[in-house]
Amino acid sequence: MTDARPAALLTVDLDALVSNWRAMAARARPAACAGVVKGDGYGLGAGPVSRALYRAGCRHFFVARLSEGIELRDFVGEDASVCVLDGLGAGEAETFRRRDLTPSLNDPGQIAMWAAAARAAGERLKANLHFDTGMSRLGLTPGEAEALLTDPAPLTALDLRYVMSHLVSSEEPDNPINAAQLALFHRFRAEFPGVKASFANSSGVFLGADYHYDLVRPGCAVYGINPTPGRDNPVRTVATLEVRILQVREIDHPQTVGYGATWQATRPTKVATIACGYADGWLRSLSGRGAAFIGDRQVPFLGRVSMDLITLDVTDAPGAVPGTMVELLGPRMTVDEVADRAGTNGYEVLTRLGRRFARAYREPAA
Ligand SMILES: *Cc1c(COP(=O)(O)O)cnc(C)c1O
Repeated sequence: MTDARPAALLTVDLDALVSNWRAMAARARPAACAGVVKGDGYGLGAGPVSRALYRAGCRHFFVARLSEGIELRDFVGEDASVCVLDGLGAGEAETFRRRDLTPSLNDPGQIAMWAAAARAAGERLKANLHFDTGMSRLGLTPGEAEALLTDPAPLTALDLRYVMSHLVSSEEPDNPINAAQLALFHRFRAEFPGVKASFANSSGVFLGADYHYDLVRPGCAVYGINPTPGRDNPVRTVATLEVRILQVREIDHPQTVGYGATWQATRPTKVATIACGYADGWLRSLSGRGAAFIGDRQVPFLGRVSMDLITLDVTDAPGAVPGTMVELLGPRMTVDEVADRAGTNGYEVLTRLGRRFARAYREPAA
């Protein structure tokens, strides 16, 4: 007998993705709404994701790496801006210019390099200027920003599109860091009266209109991760992962399950083995803690997650037979729930999704 279905199927609902992006855009209006598609579109596929967002009207995209920006140019139209958050590396100016990529300028050296490239090319090159208001990763330090304001000459060669910064703890609305960053950003921004500003990520959009400025940059919410932890999720599920049961066996005391014999039967137990493991991004920290759904019934992981396999306790799940597809991720087992159980966040769950799954993309409704 052959079974044409794949052992594991990741379904990406682009209709939900687009509807999430539209919901964020509506919440942020009159500010514009970008699409953040770094990390291969948060693990869901930069190509399908950015094409769908572009068709829905998104015209501002953010990626992390230059390589992601180069690739993105094939997915979106020439009228879309593509900003590379890593900034401008030595020797990269010509690539940025040729592919019409906008660097997020993160330090005085990058500003000087991009200004030199602009003078050499005889055109004012597009740039975003990133201020560090508290993350201490990328962006001009407050000292570098002061120096730039004292001598803004390098900027005259550039076509400054946005001044931007990034929030540290936006998913905690009561955290005073939010207001402190906002105040700092407001001060910098006032020094660039003709230039637009961009500040809020997904959770930042929910901090209120003060945080929206001219362009918001939601990532996680577009992909279905709850941007308001602890409150109802305002966005729809985008990724669903269904995995096939390979085998079912009955065991009883004193038999154990999996590597390290970390789980031992204390009663007659039905064990289902499914075709997914940590090589597929189902983190080993889910050992003894994860769960799946068979229909509406939750079934817990037994013992350790191994590289290619996970074992489930299906003693109370009559529908569990070889060939049954179980839901590891989806509307019942949400990305945030998986993350909680694994001791991480939804971003890591999505960006680690493996390459062995068959993938299906559900197109947006016309
Ligand atoms: C990743 C990222 C975002 C998107 O953040 P989410 O929390 O996923 O909405 C926005 N801006 C910058 C600079 C980022 O690096």
